[in-house]
Amino acid sequence: MKSRLVEKFRVNFGRAPEFIARAPGRIEFIGNHTDYNGGPVLGAAIDRQVWVALARRAGGERRFGSDQRGELVTRPADRVEKLSGAQSWVNYPLGVLGALPAFGLRAPAGFDYFALSDLPPGAGLSSSAAIELASALVFLAAAGENPPRETLVKIGRQAENDFVGVPCGILDQGVSGFGKKDHLVFIDCRGPHFATVPLPGDARFWIFNTHTKHALVDGLYAERHRECLEAAQGLGVGLLAEVSPAAVLAAEKKLSPPVFRRARHIVEEIARVDTTVKALRAGDLAAVGQLLNASHRSSQTLFENSTPELDFLAETLAATPHVYGARLTGGGFGGAVMALTAESFGAFQARAVAAAYAKTFGAAPDILQAQTGDGATLVPV
Ligand code: ADP
Ligand code: MG
Repeated sequence: MKSRLVEKFRVNFGRAPEFIARAPGRIEFIGNHTDYNGGPVLGAAIDRQVWVALARRAGGERRFGSDQRGELVTRPADRVEKLSGAQSWVNYPLGVLGALPAFGLRAPAGFDYFALSDLPPGAGLSSSAAIELASALVFLAAAGENPPRETLVKIGRQAENDFVGVPCGILDQGVSGFGKKDHLVFIDCRGPHFATVPLPGDARFWIFNTHTKHALVDGLYAERHRECLEAAQGLGVGLLAEVSPAAVLAAEKKLSPPVFRRARHIVEEIARVDTTVKALRAGDLAAVGQLLNASHRSSQTLFENSTPELDFLAETLAATPHVYGARLTGGGFGGAVMALTAESFGAFQARAVAAAYAKTFGAAPDILQAQTGDGATLVPV
């Protein structure tokens, strides 16, 4: 990837880059809708990433290129304005540049910039966080700044929330920033605090992207968020993370049936994240797989953010040899299912699952195999 990036940079700008950074995509491993309820979440940085190269240039222009877009986009260095249409991908690096002053950090003035990636965009793997963090690293290096990793994560999130306008939680940037090969990233969303937990050796990830999306998905997220707040209020706490599963079960009468189901999912999912960490530390991937399956069933029956497509994949995968467990990954109401498998699970089995899905639903899902990878870093040029 690096030599291809340098080559692309030369072709577009006629010179070598001064700074190169890479940042990985991520999977939500377990911890479904726990973030805004103050709970923990486990994610994995994967071995697919966005690479960014940059060289400073005299004068007041910033030129942006990407392998995914044909034309260079030229912007004046003294203004950060939102772009639309074919140029809107530049809002990710622009959002990062715009966020730097709020953290007391300088931005480089004129530069040439090129992005190259093997991380499919829009597949639920957070290519957006990856491009934000890789961009932030080269901008900061060019400006002679070196903030802590927590700040890098916050800059990326602020770019996405406030400039691009996507209200994502801390998972995306947190995992891209703190990922580590052969580890999962544990995020306590209240701090947020970040830690890594070893993932035993022979684990692999397979992601099946259905490319389905509920027509009302934004409204449904907002509704779930509201229901969780209503449950917390009904239980006399600020956030659901402050209540135990037993306390929620005992308070069933205080909540409407759907609000009770949402609350039960959240508090039990929070407990599952903690149990997953213990099972990982014990090297017990079979137990981890059961927790993934239980998480999916809870999404299906209690949080009601699954779909027939996701249920089909999760259930078929869970019943397939060499699969530890499977669950929907991300917000739900469409999207992708992730399976945790042994190394012995291969493309042949994955294609059989996809073929069974295609028979029922018409079109095959995209299949992507991944392993854990390292978090965002500058790379020597
Ligand atoms: P996800 O984060 O799940 O991949 P998003 O819609 O949040 O999906 O982000 C995808 C967007 O991020 C793309 O449409 C594009 O604007 C931007 N992006 C990601 N990777 C690249 C890249 N290599 N080059 C240019 N833009 C990219
Ligand atoms: Mg995204």
